[in-house]
Amino acid sequence: MPSTHDILVTGAAGFLGSHLCDRLLERGHRVVGLDNLCSGTRDNLAHLQAHPRFRFVEQNVTAPCTLQVDRIYNLACPASPPHYQQDPVGTTLTSVLGTWRMLELARRCGARLLQASTSEIYGDPAVHPQREDYHGDVNTVGPRACYDEGKRCAETLCFDYLRQHGVAVRVARIFNTYGPRMLPDDGRVVSNFIVQALHGQDITLYGDGRQTRCFCFVDDTVDGLLRLMESDSTGPVNLGNPHEITMRVLAAEVLALTGSSAQLVFRPLPQDDPRRRCPDIALAQRVLGWSPQVPLAQGLRRTIDDFARRLASPRTPDEA
Ligand code: NAD
Ligand code: UDP
Repeated sequence: MPSTHDILVTGAAGFLGSHLCDRLLERGHRVVGLDNLCSGTRDNLAHLQAHPRFRFVEQNVTAPCTLQVDRIYNLACPASPPHYQQDPVGTTLTSVLGTWRMLELARRCGARLLQASTSEIYGDPAVHPQREDYHGDVNTVGPRACYDEGKRCAETLCFDYLRQHGVAVRVARIFNTYGPRMLPDDGRVVSNFIVQALHGQDITLYGDGRQTRCFCFVDDTVDGLLRLMESDSTGPVNLGNPHEITMRVLAAEVLALTGSSAQLVFRPLPQDDPRRRCPDIALAQRVLGWSPQVPLAQGLRRTIDDFARRLASPRTPDEA
């Protein structure tokens, strides 16, 4: 029987964190979920309230932590641009001080720490697709820098704790992930388009809608995180779906799948919005045996079903 662990998941009440908690509990682990609920919600964990191996702690990841654990998944950080730009100083501190706190905890406990890094560390990339050895192109003084630079510094701390203190670290560079439990007012493109289509409201394309992203279904991303944590690789490893599409194509897909006749409208492109983004996942394939399994249409259908259910009865906790 595979060994079980005492696991801390920070950012547990968020979109990715709540799915990760589910998967860890399914595997028999004991899980503490830590979150300050700044961009997450208790609804995401409501179905785990009575679970005998789950405990929730409402706390800032930057605060001292006295838990005893042997695995730490550090996901605490707002991830959608409107959320992380609401309190940019808080966002930088969450990444830098929060990661430092968790690395200190890992050092004290002899625990392994997985850091949820991001494709945003590549900024508006000059090379395509992005490989892990590309060092990125980030505007350090722009409105996205609080997130991008915070995450870059978090990566630096991880590798310095490895070199200086021997802490076992794993760094995942997560590309755009979507799925059930994204918040309707999250502000990211997939949730915006689905909510707008279901309500018959205008679909807001920023800029000319020709910028690209690659969308990975949440089950695939979580599978990659679990594999990386238990692998011998420190990373950084890209986790993303290499199927690259424009936002226009995404809008058309969502309209087709919802059967909506909502109209497209164009809004200004936010400053420093990356024009192209696509992961090179050769490393993840080689060292983790990982590649995404869920095609976009299938993942969108499951996400649309979840939004439709929650929008119809907003108070019902999601059990997707
Ligand atoms: P999310 O906003 O849904 O979840 C983040 C969670 O962290 C929320 O529950 C929030 O309340 C919590 N949090 C934020 N600041 C905190 C703090 N100071 N102390 C304690 N808790 C705090 O976002 P998500 O999409 O689930 O992203 C989770 C992690 O994955 C983030 O670190 C994000 O940077 C990373 N990531 C996500 C994506 C994606 O596409 N979803 C892509 C790249 C990286
Ligand atoms: N976007 C859009 N309409 C929206 C929300 C976002 O066209 O209603 C665009 C945004 O400008 C970006 C892309 O969709 O080019 C992805 O945005 P998101 O915020 O989801 O993720 P990120 O920019 O962080 O990759």
